[in-house]
This record gives sequence, C-alpha cells and structure tokens, in this order.
Amino acid sequence: SGPELAAVVAGASIDVPDFPKPGVVFKDLMPLFADGAVFRQVIDAIVTHHGAGSFDVVAGVEARGFVVAAAIAYATGTGVVPIRKAGKLPRKALSASYALEYGEATLEVHADAFVAGQRVLVVDDVLATGGTAAAAIDLVERAGGTVVGFSVLMELSFLDGRERLAPRPVHTLLTV
Ligand code: AMP
Repeated sequence: SGPELAAVVAGASIDVPDFPKPGVVFKDLMPLFADGAVFRQVIDAIVTHHGAGSFDVVAGVEARGFVVAAAIAYATGTGVVPIRKAGKLPRKALSASYALEYGEATLEVHADAFVAGQRVLVVDDVLATGGTAAAAIDLVERAGGTVVGFSVLMELSFLDGRERLAPRPVHTLLTV
C-alpha cells in the first residue's frame, strides 16, 4: 500500500546533513538500491502505478535516475533513454539549461532518441525544486517523445517541485 511503500523508502534512505553544501540535507538512496527486496518492491510499485504497457521507453536523469530507469525498462521489456549532463553524448543532442541555487545546469538528450509520439516515462530518484525534471521533460518533448508519466522515489515537498511541474502529475513513493 501507499503508506507501507513510503515507510519502505524512508527506511532504506539516509539523510546526510550539509551535503553537498551547508544547509542541504542530501537524501541518499544508495541503501535502497543495494537492498534487492526493497529495490524490487519500489520498481514494481512504479510499474504498477503507471501500468506495464502504458509506456514504450523509460527516460532516466543522470546518474541515479539511470538506476531506476534501467530496472523499470527491464521489468517491462521497454528501453532506456539516458538524459545526460552536458558534454557526454557523442552525437547530435538537444540541450536544456536551468537555474540552480548557484549557477546553472544543462541536460542533454540525443536528438534522435525517440520515435515521434513514442510514449515516455520519465524517472529520477528525488524531486526537489523541479528544475531537473522540467528540463528533462522539455528535452523528451523537443526530441519528439510524448511524456506519459513522471515518477520519483522521493519528493521534497517544501521545495515546491510539484507546483513547478503542474499540471503534469507527479508520482512519488514518499513525500517528505
Ligand atoms: P531539482 O532540480 O532541484 O528538483 O533537484 C533534483 C535533482 O537533484 C535530482 O536529480 C536529485 O537526484 C538531486 N537532488 C536535489 N536535491 C537533493 C537532495 N536533497 N537529496 C538528494 N538528491 C537531491
């Protein structure tokens, strides 16, 4: 159930104060990825929420989103499209830049990553301000994909990422 899953995610993550800088509480999901039973439960819950067959490919945001995306793709017989940090993709890519607290970040996807109208599930580990997710969704759509869902394992609700992505629905297993 929802509350059980939320407890599982909470129990399998570790709060790291002041990482990567003072004042930030980093949500470390490595213990969740490392626990086979928990990882499977979390991945299965995301698949069940959207419905296997409702998406053709899973787009994951570098780097922890890759772990989530690959598992969902394998479980559903779909493929993975990596959304990468700037400068990593070898062929023609589309870019989306967004503001961080200090400076800016850029994500990229191969221009030919999607067949027009392909149904894409976008995933990441944590939703904070929503800047990363907004850029990832924008890239998928500009590359011709149709975003049919967005999931994270954990949402930091005080940063209002959900509002930033509205009216697009955000699916999360745990809201803190
Ligand atoms: P944002 O663009 O602010 O929504 O940040 C989301 C991206 O940064 C995701 O790729 C997360 O992995 C990462 N991130 C942001 N804040 C945190 C946090 N407190 N703990 C763990 N990851 C975070």
